[in-house]
Amino acid sequence: MSKDRLLDIRRNNCNPMTMKITYYKKPVFINQGHMQWLWDVDGRRYLDLFAGVATVSVGHCNPKVTEAAEKQLRRLWHTTPIYVYPQIQEYAEKLTSLLPDPLKVVCFTNSGSEANDLAVLMARLHTGNFDVITLRGSYHGGSPQATGLTSNAEYKYPIPSSMGCHNTMCPDVFRGLWGGSHCRDSPVQTIRECSCSPGHCQANDMYISELKEMFTTTVPHRIAAFFAEPIQGVGGAVQFPKNYLKETYQLVREKGGICIADEVQTGFGRTGSHFWGFQGHDVLPDMVTMAKGIANGFPMGALVTTAEIARSFAKGVHFNTFGGNPLACAVASSVIDTIKEDRMQENSAEVGTYLLTGLAKLRDKYEIIGDVRGKGLQIGVEMVKDKVSRDPLPCEAMAEIFEDTKDMGVLIGKGGLYGQTFRIKSPMCITKDDADFFLSVFDQAVQ
Ligand code: PMP
Repeated sequence: MSKDRLLDIRRNNCNPMTMKITYYKKPVFINQGHMQWLWDVDGRRYLDLFAGVATVSVGHCNPKVTEAAEKQLRRLWHTTPIYVYPQIQEYAEKLTSLLPDPLKVVCFTNSGSEANDLAVLMARLHTGNFDVITLRGSYHGGSPQATGLTSNAEYKYPIPSSMGCHNTMCPDVFRGLWGGSHCRDSPVQTIRECSCSPGHCQANDMYISELKEMFTTTVPHRIAAFFAEPIQGVGGAVQFPKNYLKETYQLVREKGGICIADEVQTGFGRTGSHFWGFQGHDVLPDMVTMAKGIANGFPMGALVTTAEIARSFAKGVHFNTFGGNPLACAVASSVIDTIKEDRMQENSAEVGTYLLTGLAKLRDKYEIIGDVRGKGLQIGVEMVKDKVSRDPLPCEAMAEIFEDTKDMGVLIGKGGLYGQTFRIKSPMCITKDDADFFLSVFDQAVQ
């Protein structure tokens, strides 16, 4: 089929807002992938630093995972969890062994939105409370319930999907309430170490008092849950000040709520130093939701919680036809093995730090690169008009850099409150040579 015909069908028969094309001026027609590389229909190669939105964790068509999938495809594709089959127990054991006590009970879904929907339902059943708090700029999914949790304005609809959902200020030290210039020197940390005196972060204090204020005004009663990503993803790799999550978890628990870590982007070693993003904040959530990297692009999601919270379903059974089917479990199991055998988490830390350091040099070179941040391969590059105003770089300039980077052979993502942040979330198998290639391409594009 010709490219024009493909685009015609896409325009006429696919909903453009549920299937928005990212490089809309000159779309990429993807044909094939291997590890960190993609090829278009004309045979042009791209370094994929967006990984199908932080999803292809161990590389496109990773041979080990492909072999595991092929083996399972020949044995059994599907049956549902109403039966006992080895793959689901084996995977449940493998997955929960990666989480600390008492997070040992799993529910399988097909996506991150479903996992978060289930988390809200369970939190409400468990606590008997209704209200849920999320952070401004967050993305937690596209289902009716998850769009309520999501606060990122681009994904909000003028209908009441958000009953009982409230947003508190995102503790963004670059573009939030806080106008200070600290917490910006070292871009390679999960949480931004603060240079306020002594061991006391003014930005953190401000965001915590905003939350306390919310507990006296908008939600003065007891709550069901607090949701946060350990590093905000779609929001633009936003990192929180040290102790923010720790103090927030304490306040939430005092209000009767449970704490939920959305690890849909940050889980499975992406942040490098830890397998789960929450571990970088020194907190223990009551529930962890995950998807994306869990099965390298095979549709799967999960929620892991404590046995006590899981018992909330004694008040009503929950069923999911595909969640945890044999094929999904076999693929996801092989993803965990591959991350471990091929030291992908370690690679994420090493190449991520290398990339962040290189990007920080570009930040010092160009007035329009306002902030470089992230951890491992969860990276954000926030673009500004100038470093003093920190006003977002206009969309047209963002689009130009984005398209030029692609034309020079590298795919990256875009996000942030105003679409002003480039996002780098590559497969965890990229090399330092790949990082050098991207840095030189990005340098030219920004120039
Ligand atoms: N949570 C986060 C942090 C996400 O980034 C996403 C997807 N971008 C979701 C939840 C929803 O996942 P899915 O698209 O698989 O429903």
